[in-house]
Amino acid sequence: MENCPFCQIIERKLPATILYEDEDAVAIQDIRPLAPVHLLIIPKKHIDSLNTVAAEDTALIGRLLLIARKLAFEQHIGEPGYRIVINTNRGGGQTVFHLHVHLLGGAPIAPELLVKGLQ
Ligand code: AMP
Ligand code: ZN
Repeated sequence: MENCPFCQIIERKLPATILYEDEDAVAIQDIRPLAPVHLLIIPKKHIDSLNTVAAEDTALIGRLLLIARKLAFEQHIGEPGYRIVINTNRGGGQTVFHLHVHLLGGAPIAPELLVKGLQ
């Protein structure tokens, strides 16, 4: 999709550090990392957000999570643990409207981030 940074990364029109790629997805390093390990797992299919995922994408969503787990172990954070985040729409903090899974880890979670809900 035009003007979508993640589509452009997938099409190699924008640079990124790509750590994983298969026929369905890529994983890149976040350009503004919020943790020692901060990767984005991105489906090649342009889907705006979790809100627009169709039933036919169910297996794809599962694949993204398993790719995140595999990368977590490759990055040596599988055992201590990690956090998976899918920001959804502006109210959920989404800024790039191409579905993606954040993989975050490599440092203790700040106490304020352990809070279970929103303020
Ligand atoms: P979200 O706020 O959930 O939509 O997350 C978007 C993420 O994409 C942010 O963490 C950004 O730092 C990251 N991001 C935006 N543009 C790029 C890019 N060109 N390459 C890598 N990461 C990016
Ligand atoms: Zn896109």
